[in-house]
Amino acid sequence: MTQSALAKTISAVRSAFRGYYFKPNMIETPDMIEQREFGYMQFAQVGMVRHLSFNSMKELTATIIKEAPADIYCSNAYYRFPTYPMQEKQWLGADLIFDIDGKDLHLPCVSSHSYFVCANCGRASASAPDEKKGYPCQLCSGKELDSVSIPCANCIDGSKKEVKHLIEFLTGDLGMKQGAIQVYFSGNNGFHVHISDGAYARLDPQARSDLVGYISGAGLMAESVGVRKRNAENLFLIKFPKSGLAYGWRARVADKLKIKSSSIIKLKHIVEQRGGYTPFKVDVDRMARDMGVRIDPQVTTDVHRVFRMPGTLNSKSGLVKMKCGDLDSFDPLVEACLLGDNKVSVRVKTSVKLKLKNKSFNISKESAELPAYAAVYLICKRLAEAN
Ligand SMILES: [Zn+2]
Ligand SMILES: [Zn+2]
Repeated sequence: MTQSALAKTISAVRSAFRGYYFKPNMIETPDMIEQREFGYMQFAQVGMVRHLSFNSMKELTATIIKEAPADIYCSNAYYRFPTYPMQEKQWLGADLIFDIDGKDLHLPCVSSHSYFVCANCGRASASAPDEKKGYPCQLCSGKELDSVSIPCANCIDGSKKEVKHLIEFLTGDLGMKQGAIQVYFSGNNGFHVHISDGAYARLDPQARSDLVGYISGAGLMAESVGVRKRNAENLFLIKFPKSGLAYGWRARVADKLKIKSSSIIKLKHIVEQRGGYTPFKVDVDRMARDMGVRIDPQVTTDVHRVFRMPGTLNSKSGLVKMKCGDLDSFDPLVEACLLGDNKVSVRVKTSVKLKLKNKSFNISKESAELPAYAAVYLICKRLAEAN
C-alpha cells in the first residue's frame, strides 16, 4: 500500500470509529472503574498505551473521542494503584473470564471463507498458498502470509455451542449461578464469558489454571471412573469411587461408556476390550478432550491482563464487543455491526462475499462504493483499502 493510500485508509476507519464513540452510552461502565487499569492501541502504531486510570466514564470517553483508538482495553483486575508499574499496583482481585475463539474450533467451513494476506505488501488472495514453495507472495515474494477469515453463520453457531457447553460446566459442575454469568460477543469471531461473582475474584493463577484444566478435561484419569493400574503392564483392577459415578466428569465418562456404579463386570469387559489399562487410559484422554470445552487457558489464568472493553470496537472487524441478550437469537453480524452507512469508496483486493446487517455483498470489481460498516469491515480484515 502506498503511503497516501495508507493514510487515507486509516483516516476512513478512524473517522467511522470516532463517529461511533460520539454516540452516548455505547461503552459499558466497569465496576470499580477507578481501580481498573486501562489501555489502548492506536491505528498503525506498535505497542499498547497502558497503565492508564480514569475516575469516571466521562474522563474515559473524552480520551476515546480525542484519540479514536483502534482497540480499547480494561483490566480484569482491580488494583490499589492502577497507574503504577505492575509490581507496585497492589492487586486486589480480578474478574474470572473465559475466552472462546472460533478459530480454535477448527471447523470444516473455515477454508471456504479464508483469505491469505501478505504480511509485507498486503496482497490478498482467496487461494491457499502452495506449501511446497514456502508460502511466497506472488507480488513481493514475502514469505509470511496471514490467514484471514470472514466467519460464517456456521462458525458463529459453533462458538455459541461451545459457550453453552461452558455454561453447563459452570452451572452444573461448579454450581455457579446463571445470573452471575455474562456472555459477550468478542467483536470478531468468538465470545468472552465474564463471571461477576466476587467469590472468584481472589483466585490466584494456579486456581484459575486448575479450573481451566477441569473444564477442558485435561488430566482426567482412568482412576476417576474406577479403573486402577496394577503393578504389571496393562493389568488393572476396578474399584468404583465411594461417591459413585453420578456427578461431573465421572458421570460424563460413565454415560459415554454406558456404565453405572453397579456395572463392575461391564466396565471390566470394556477395559479388556480396549487392551488393558494403558489403552483404556488413552481412550479416557480422548473422551475428555472431546467432551471438554475448548477455552484459551492463558486468558483465564492471567490475572493482570487487559481485556477488550464491552461496548468498544474491535479493529480486526469494526464490530462491537457487546453483551448478548439471548444467545440463541443473537446475530453478531447484525447486532454488533453498529457503524454508519455513509458511502466509502474502497479498492477491494480480491473478490469477496459477506453479509452484514442482513445485506449481502458479493464484490468482484476492484473498486466499490460501500456503506461505511461494510467498507470498514473489509479494511479491518485487510481485504480492502480506501480509494
Ligand atoms: Zn507481498
Ligand atoms: Zn464458517
